[in-house]
Amino acid sequence: MIIMKTDATQEQIAQVIKEIKKYGLGTDVSKGAYRTVIGLVGDERKIPFAHFEALPGVKEAVRVEIPYKLISREYSRFFEGEGVSVPRAVRVGGIEIGGDKLIFIAGPCAVESKQQLFKIAEGVKKAGAHILRGGIFKPRSSVHSFQGLGAGGQEEAEEALDWLQGAGRKFELPVITEIRGESQVDLVAEYVDILQIGARNMYSQDLLTQVAKKGKPILFKRHFGAGIEEFLSFAEYIAVEGNKDIILCERGIVPVGKGRSYTRYTLDLAAVPAIQKETYLPVVVDPSHATGRRDLIFNMSCAAIAAGASGLMIEVHHNPSEALVDAQQQITPDELKDVIDACQKINKVVVAGRNKG
Ligand code: PEP
Ligand code: MN
Repeated sequence: MIIMKTDATQEQIAQVIKEIKKYGLGTDVSKGAYRTVIGLVGDERKIPFAHFEALPGVKEAVRVEIPYKLISREYSRFFEGEGVSVPRAVRVGGIEIGGDKLIFIAGPCAVESKQQLFKIAEGVKKAGAHILRGGIFKPRSSVHSFQGLGAGGQEEAEEALDWLQGAGRKFELPVITEIRGESQVDLVAEYVDILQIGARNMYSQDLLTQVAKKGKPILFKRHFGAGIEEFLSFAEYIAVEGNKDIILCERGIVPVGKGRSYTRYTLDLAAVPAIQKETYLPVVVDPSHATGRRDLIFNMSCAAIAAGASGLMIEVHHNPSEALVDAQQQITPDELKDVIDACQKINKVVVAGRNKG
């Protein structure tokens, strides 16, 4: 990265960018309260650092070898100042994810009908949720199971997206849905406020690039087999496109050992504070897919907030046992309210401790 002097002029910054491009690298310009830092996108070994340090307006040229440098604290501390340890909030529809308040994303696993969606939207709003979720293109293990209404064709997909947008407007909730494949990017981005990349697609570089280019906030889920460094390295594919409105989501990793594990995945809660040490991006937790069990949602939600998460994504259905997908892990709006109330209390303790430390 090239760290500019605090009094560097626009012309000097432009000159450095021009020089970097000559060496075949891209740039990521961050103007902080403090100073401007120009991140190098590509292979830094091609850059003669001494040459850049001699350019007017340049304070220092520093090599950063971490694979997720643009989203790292290592990078942001140069323009945001030392000691800034809070996340940088992602803003959507008047809401801040990663700000002082907890954010609850709730709604059905899959959109099943207009009536179902509006009923659940009303319920989660009353319970205190901030963002409405609903899957329209579902990633399923079996090709024979319900793939979401979007699988019915263009018309069905648009209709379901229109309901989602409509429910969001009616109950004043920004909306989120998963983009499962590249062919869905343009359509989905027209209707929703936050674009979701599912766990199975964490490694889909081309999809990440295309979704990032829409310039909308992205909820990026960790693959169930991915290490933390790998997870952040793939988030960098989004950041490199100039889109840093990324919300990271821990949703459980593959359980270890033989015999029954009694949970669908293993919720890796230490990942939350560990990730927060590495990046300024907000981290949320999905206890629904992690546990696969509605009777564990309350405890694991509380635990996730205690671990420092900025919010939760929870599957909610007015009649969970009748849900077409993930029936066993969805909770009711009333149960969601209990979760939210408990989490708010826990968060007060966490925030007080953070401010002290
Ligand atoms: C989902 O949130 O709808 C989902 C399928 O989750 P994941 O990608 O984490 O499995
Ligand atoms: Mn689900």
